[in-house]
Amino acid sequence: MQGFKSFADRTQIDFMPGITGIVGPNGSGKSNIIEAIRWVMGEQSAKGLRGDKMADVIFGGTKTRAPLNRAEVGIVFDNQDHYLNSNFSEIEIKRLLYRNGDSKYLMNGKQVRLKDIQELFMDSGLGHESFSIISQGRVEHIFSAKAEDRRAIIEDVAGVYKYKQNKQQAGKK
Ligand code: ATP
Ligand code: MG
Repeated sequence: MQGFKSFADRTQIDFMPGITGIVGPNGSGKSNIIEAIRWVMGEQSAKGLRGDKMADVIFGGTKTRAPLNRAEVGIVFDNQDHYLNSNFSEIEIKRLLYRNGDSKYLMNGKQVRLKDIQELFMDSGLGHESFSIISQGRVEHIFSAKAEDRRAIIEDVAGVYKYKQNKQQAGKK
């Protein structure tokens, strides 16, 4: 991460196999780390990242430090088992956003569309809206969802969402 929320300086975190716990005082940036992960995986909702507009993810400055113009987050997946639908055995996704609104996504250094990122995670159980990341309030949301919304959640987890989308697309032709 660089320039993302409180992470003005380039910060790298290694997630090793097993459990990683992130501890630190209130306001030290623990939630921002999780939000960086959701953001790079395609999160489109500024509110979901506790902001009003997407540019709020860019380091906004402190008393002693000027704001930055750009937020950048990259994430590298070990894909040797090809769990993600790609021929690459290592996949790096990167997302950049500038204050003027310019934004881009890169996959292994090549510019791609948001759609390509979404397709990579579709039915993988990862994705920005998946249940591999459960934020506060989400558990309640699942329980109080309407039946058809809850069905969509289950279908996504079960991996049939992709086929439904394909069917819908085919029907349109
Ligand atoms: P808690 O233990 O209370 O949950 P936390 O470790 O999860 O705290 P975060 O919510 O990740 O902390 O970090 C909040 C901090 O990030 C605040 O100090 C806030 O000012 C800072 N912050 C958020 N967005 C930006 C931004 N765009 N620029 C600079 N700082 C930011
Ligand atoms: Mg927090």
